Amino acid sequence: MKETGVYSISRPLGKIFSHQRVAVAIGSGASAVAFAQSLREGRWEGRIVLISKDNFLPYDKTRLSETVNLSAENLKLKDADWFQHLGIELRLNTAVHRVDMTKRKLYVETTRVPVPYTKLFIGTGSRGRLPTTRLVPGINLKNIYTISDIHEAQRVYDVSKGKTVVIEGSGFIAMELVSTMKNYAKMSYIVTRQKRPFQTVLGETIGKALQRHIMKNVSNVEFFTFDEIRSITGNEKGEVKMVKTLKKREINCDVVVYAIGSVPNSELFSADKRALVSKSGHIVVTEFCETNVTDVYAGGDVALVPLDCAVTGTATIAHWNFASYTGKIAAARILHINESIKPYIPFYYTSFCGITLRYTGFGDHYDESIIFGDIFDNLKFCVLYRRERKILACATVNADPIAARVCFNIGDHFQWEPGVYPKIITDTFPELPILGEEFFGFKLDRETCITLYDSQSTTEEAVRRGNRQFDASQYKDTEFPLGLAEDKQMNFVFMM
Ligand SMILES: Cc1cc2nc3c(=O)[nH]c(=O)nc-3n(C[C@H](O)[C@H](O)[C@H](O)COP(=O)(O)OP(=O)(O)OC[C@H]3O[C@@H](n4cnc5c(N)ncnc54)[C@H](O)[C@@H]3O)c2cc1C
Repeated sequence: MKETGVYSISRPLGKIFSHQRVAVAIGSGASAVAFAQSLREGRWEGRIVLISKDNFLPYDKTRLSETVNLSAENLKLKDADWFQHLGIELRLNTAVHRVDMTKRKLYVETTRVPVPYTKLFIGTGSRGRLPTTRLVPGINLKNIYTISDIHEAQRVYDVSKGKTVVIEGSGFIAMELVSTMKNYAKMSYIVTRQKRPFQTVLGETIGKALQRHIMKNVSNVEFFTFDEIRSITGNEKGEVKMVKTLKKREINCDVVVYAIGSVPNSELFSADKRALVSKSGHIVVTEFCETNVTDVYAGGDVALVPLDCAVTGTATIAHWNFASYTGKIAAARILHINESIKPYIPFYYTSFCGITLRYTGFGDHYDESIIFGDIFDNLKFCVLYRRERKILACATVNADPIAARVCFNIGDHFQWEPGVYPKIITDTFPELPILGEEFFGFKLDRETCITLYDSQSTTEEAVRRGNRQFDASQYKDTEFPLGLAEDKQMNFVFMM
């Protein structure tokens, strides 16, 4: 099967599309594929072209941290025939290096001939965040990675077999990786600023329960908490040999993987002076995924969208399901159908160490978490995250389909009656729930949330302002306030 190159279309669906109108998507990820599919299914009569620097057919990126068996064949979303049938042209292995939004043309690296467009969708996604050399000397050594695409993930697995790996971060990608590296790497060390894995999203109690489960299931993992990598030293071949941490730990290792959030790939768009890009580098779009430049749309990890459930009213949700939905919304707008992203309720799914985890809503700054079920032995539970009279989010472990059902009870329209819970939860877990902790153990007022999440402020500003607003005496660990403020700023992109 042909996996790279340009797919030519011969009368797909028995018709010839108008060559006058061309919808081009940059990227071949979740958002771009959904954009192309929705446009064609909505009877767009012109050409549809996906231009991507990937040299594989569009694939499922969510699996990169879940399996060491990475191949285009294993991960592909659809066969080449499917694209051909819909009349979607794929120009793979083709990086776009410039977009001229005045002349409506884009320039690719493989040819000097510009590609004209009538409508443009930017679905360039994001890449893993790496610290700078100033913050972490030695960051340019060999065998230091993020997991941003299939090639990088493949390199991580190639160099990790039977070796010692240090993973910085303790969110979803980090924990999936630990589970995948079980029986594969010799040893994995997690270095994290948090006290517990998943803490920023799920809270300390659930973080503790999941950490216990991970440690029971993965014998070759150790957690170093309230800590972070401060420098990396290498051997004579320029490969990683040791990391030194804030807490003066020295960990001998062969590979370092950063799983500390992501950076949007928005450089193509922000090169245009007219383009509206947030300080965090995300492309600012309307509820219909339009940018401020006519006929240019954006979605997925690169876009900052207005969202009712976000505390500041805007957010980037770095999830597969969200990316696909933004692609559909942009296509709908082109087809003159106004479907708004604003009421969207995020939904995230994953599995690791033999459990399935679902999360729906946007639970930041909850007042209280309410836990149903067993978080100690058998790990089957559901957690509601509440703020005032609203359920902000719901997380479940091994308890499908609760999250999928409860997502309809989340959001502004739903006023929660204390002590009354969705029936599917009380039917599954008839015992009384227990209360978890508040968000990081203290309440934040709305203004503080906005300060921390303000897309117009830089991380440093947010840290300074955050530090002023938090009373350090509330914390047992004095490093925590700084870490918290930084993490909150990073988490403005709701990356799991
Ligand atoms: C390791 C990992 C695990 C994840 N696990 C989960 C999970 O379990 N559940 C979940 O919901 N989400 C998960 N996510 C997040 C999810 O995969 C992303 O939110 C989603 O893929 C974003 O889609 P996108 O279309 O915005 O961008 P992407 O899927 O990142 O696609 C971007 C595309 O743009 C192309 N591109 C970029 N720049 C250029 C250029 N200049 N020229 C041409 N092409 C370009 C890239 O080649 C790529 O094809 C995970 C992400 C990672 C990295």
